Formats: sequence, structure tokens, C-alpha cells
Amino acid sequence: MRCPFCAHDDTRVVDSRLSDEGSSVRRRRECPACGQRFTTFERAELSLPAVVKADGRREPFSEEKLLRGLFRALSKRPVATNLVHAAARNIQRRIRERGEREIPARLIGELVMEALRDLDPVAYVRFASVYRRFEDVDAFSAEVARMKQGEEGAQAANAQDRDQD
Ligand SMILES: [Zn+2]
Repeated sequence: MRCPFCAHDDTRVVDSRLSDEGSSVRRRRECPACGQRFTTFERAELSLPAVVKADGRREPFSEEKLLRGLFRALSKRPVATNLVHAAARNIQRRIRERGEREIPARLIGELVMEALRDLDPVAYVRFASVYRRFEDVDAFSAEVARMKQGEEGAQAANAQDRDQD
């Protein structure tokens, strides 16, 4: 690591120990050129990346939005709540594993569709066509809500037709 005082190319680790109950490594370093000492910390990067939407705007990753999208798509389908939560955790793990600071919203959409395919093939087929047009989980949720309203409207109209027969 470069010396922050004189910008010398390399510094020497003179001491290394665990801190924060083992969740980080604290190192004392010394610059052989200027003799300055400084401390560095190494810890796992666990925060989720920012989501870049189709229009270029960025927003923080939201587990709440992810769950809302999944639950909307699976509403009235025979899928256990704990399986939906497990799918959301799996999606977040895969996003973290990429180790990137930003990810496109489209990628989250792809992971959501993969999860739906595993959880409930009917819901997957139903929303695969919607997905092609949706930019992020928010837009997907809105579209699913709109489709459900349309279905309920159609059912009400069919019931009326039957009443008239
Ligand atoms: Zn130095």
C-alpha cells in the first residue's frame, strides 16, 4: 500500500491484529521512505450496491421493494411466506457476491424472474411477458397491481353476463 504522507510506493506492515470482535483486521504500517506510521482496517464489504434505473437515476437497494414485488407476483398462489423470504435473501446474496458498487435495476428484475420460476411456474409464465417491459421492481409491482385490477374487472363483467342469461 502506498504511503499517504509521501506517496512512496510501498509500506511495511509492523503489526496486525483482529478488532471489532474479529470482524475486522487492524494493521499498523510504516513507510520505509519517510518513517511515518499509520493504521488500516480491513473488513468485509456487506452493503448492497446502489441500483441504477433505466433512466440513469440511482437509488439505494431496498429489500422492502424486492419483497413487495415478489409477494405481489405470488399473491393468491400456494407459495409459503418463508419460501418467498428465502428467495429474497438468496437474491440479495447473489447481488452481494458480485462485489460491485452499482447494479442495473434490470439485473434485479432477472433475478426476480428466476426466483419466480423456481417458486411458482404459473406466476412465472404469467409475468414473463410483463417483465420484458418492466424497468425495476417498483414498475413491476405497479404493473402486477394493474393486471390484477384488470382481471377482477373482467371477472365482474363475466358474472354480469351470466346474470343476464
Ligand atoms: Zn512515506
